[in-house]
Amino acid sequence: MNEAKTRIEPPLYLASTTISCWRCGANMPAVGLVASNVPEAQGEICILSDIRELPGSVLNFVRKRFPTFKLKFSKTTQSEYFANACPQCDVISGDFYLHAEPGGPFFPTTEEEARCLTVEPIPLRGSIEVHAGLGMGTGDLILKYGKKTGRLEGWKTGRVVADC
Ligand SMILES: [Zn+2]
Repeated sequence: MNEAKTRIEPPLYLASTTISCWRCGANMPAVGLVASNVPEAQGEICILSDIRELPGSVLNFVRKRFPTFKLKFSKTTQSEYFANACPQCDVISGDFYLHAEPGGPFFPTTEEEARCLTVEPIPLRGSIEVHAGLGMGTGDLILKYGKKTGRLEGWKTGRVVADC
């Protein structure tokens, strides 16, 4: 875990998909942030996890689309971070499950898995600073095969976003 702030240069992407809540089974959105220009990552595409701090403009952009992305206490990590909460029961699906397990929503191992994600650019005026962990290795699959969009679709209707 990188405890220092990380500088991110544009572009920054919002990746999203629909999962089932592990507790109540409801469809819920899961979102993650993908940064392709992080100076300290030396060209690696980074997926942010365990996000402790985000600029207000970025948070507003994400929360306008996905109000269930919010600061929550995780029993697993014993810390607060921006996590994906279930709209029905408010339990979080933690970043460990979403990011750290191969085949998980933000750890695609194949083109097919990456196609389950929708990717939308987040407008940035310049570089930003975040307090988050950086995951590397699968961002290229996400940006290459994720469905590109400029608008919200899917989860509000209860329909699973991807046919996978
Ligand atoms: Zn639930």
